Amino acid sequence: MVGETNMVDVLTQLQKLVIASGNAGKVEEFRSYLADFGVELIAKPDNIDVEETGITFIENAHLKASQVAIATKQWAIADDSGLEVFALNGAPGVLSARYAATDRDRINRVLTELRDFSNREAQFVCAIAIASPSGEIVADAIGICKGVITESPMGNGGFGYDPIFFMPELQQTFGETPPEVKARISHRANALATLRLKLQYLLN
Ligand code: IMP
Repeated sequence: MVGETNMVDVLTQLQKLVIASGNAGKVEEFRSYLADFGVELIAKPDNIDVEETGITFIENAHLKASQVAIATKQWAIADDSGLEVFALNGAPGVLSARYAATDRDRINRVLTELRDFSNREAQFVCAIAIASPSGEIVADAIGICKGVITESPMGNGGFGYDPIFFMPELQQTFGETPPEVKARISHRANALATLRLKLQYLLN
């Protein structure tokens, strides 16, 4: 991280931000959350791929933001997210996207591994980082969303582990939750809200 005075200097140059994700949904989500910053958000070129070698979400977010910033010579924003199940010591964690071959297989693996546990508490985690064109991380944030893993999938909405992630406040799984509701309370929304506050603080 660069020092705080230095951060203010570098952030005033921020006009364009490359989103270090090939996922169109994520690109749109970032656009809607950061719309009022007056920063142009652009998708990363397809030929830049960063290997997620970190052992934490924040490490991977830093890695992706830095490497995409350096490769494009532009400011970059990246996120890394996944599911942590307490009884499984945080698994699948940073391996969430790679826990099995398909969403259905990944869900089945979690349900099988959790079969003998009564504690089914879990959380979605999202880490977000912004890097300057030289690859320095100028701001980052983590967002969490707590829930419980169901005995079997419920609902066809969302993606990934949504059908087995039950939110007690909503009394339904994310697979049953309308997208606009999930977008307000998700781990990504929480991380972006914190990042917005940090950016506002740094820019004022
Ligand atoms: P990422 O794209 O590297 O951040 O990988 C995230 C992986 O974590 C996804 O492929 C999903 O399996 C899981 N994941 C992250 N956020 C969510 C969510 O909101 N719902 C369901 N699964 C999620």
